Amino acid sequence: MARKFFVGGNWKCNGTVKSNEELVKVLNAAEVPGTDVVEVVVAPAAGHFPQVLSSLRKDFSVAAQNCWVKKGGAFTGELSAEMLKDLGLPWVVLGHSERRHIIGESDEFIADKVAYALGQGLGVIYCIGEKLEEREAGNTMAVNARQMQALADKISDWSKVVVAYEPVWAIGTGKVASPAQAQEVHDELRKWLSANVSPEVAEATRIIYGGSVTAANCGELAGCPDIDGFLVGGASLKPEFVDIIKAAE
Ligand code: PGA
Repeated sequence: MARKFFVGGNWKCNGTVKSNEELVKVLNAAEVPGTDVVEVVVAPAAGHFPQVLSSLRKDFSVAAQNCWVKKGGAFTGELSAEMLKDLGLPWVVLGHSERRHIIGESDEFIADKVAYALGQGLGVIYCIGEKLEEREAGNTMAVNARQMQALADKISDWSKVVVAYEPVWAIGTGKVASPAQAQEVHDELRKWLSANVSPEVAEATRIIYGGSVTAANCGELAGCPDIDGFLVGGASLKPEFVDIIKAAE
């Protein structure tokens, strides 16, 4: 079964009502391949969900950038998976490196979040990736495998999981992984899934790349056999995101 190309735009903690309006206008006017070829998801800041949900073209979906680890209740400042479902958001990004390394979320906590979100019927963009010092110490795959194992320990159904490999040293730095570097890790991740989950899950799961993806570098990355799309930060706030979606073709 062919894996459908997946392009996510992670808007992070950016945007105003006005800038969102302009960005959505560009996205809505864009001529991009159909939903049979590419799945497009954008993740605005939570306060902007209603605006983006109501104005964005319906062939693109809206994702949250995070959610709470269990059912809502007395958890000040949090947003539950149930709320995302209720608002009509089909996706949530979990395990982003900014949440792992700035907020301090652990592998286990993130895996619990993924399991809970999947249980509520959400799709999850599960981010993993090594830091520069981990890569330089030769631990790239050990770190990525550890983050994958944390999730494999908690879930059995991978059908709504998209794995986003985002080397931390490439995020927001302008230092994109070379196609060879990215393909090598994606290939290893697929082998890891095959050996530790199942060959079927390995074959079906989309593994997307994130970290300084731009219109200029996306074409070559998209040509790699195990790169099934992108998670885009900075460039997703610009009209250039449209060119990245077109890399699906
Ligand atoms: P970047 O961010 O494209 O700005 O490097 C990617 C991400 O954090 O998902």
